[in-house]
Amino acid sequence: MDDLDQLYQDLILDHYKQPRHRQALADKDVSAEAENPLCGDQLRLAVEVDGNCVRSIRHDGKGCAISQASASMMSETLTGKPVAEVRALLGDFIAAMRDEREFDSAWPDEWLALQGVKKFPLRVKCATLAWHALNRALDKQGSS
Ligand code: ZN
Repeated sequence: MDDLDQLYQDLILDHYKQPRHRQALADKDVSAEAENPLCGDQLRLAVEVDGNCVRSIRHDGKGCAISQASASMMSETLTGKPVAEVRALLGDFIAAMRDEREFDSAWPDEWLALQGVKKFPLRVKCATLAWHALNRALDKQGSS
């Protein structure tokens, strides 16, 4: 394992152990749910949109380290951005995890850390679970 791999592993572990934006959600606040039965991951998101901006993203649920860390990383890096930009980034990241495009070296380290998961096709769903859920949550809010 080289230094960069180690750095990425550490980032994933850090987000798993100390998830950002994680909070027990009331049912009425849940904007979208997602599950990955193959792995047993369950995730709920509460998203608040303020005008054209994603004001807050919170999540709860249970699952493997990858799914939990990914939800934390996504929430931390996309909060506060314009909805249109978030939409575009969600599409780009999911496409990159599916090997349909390259990872962009300008993306946050947290996102680049997840590219190692591509080597394990079954885990790609773990890594993109929260991202699909956020897309659906934004659909429901009628924001595009
Ligand atoms: Zn998983």
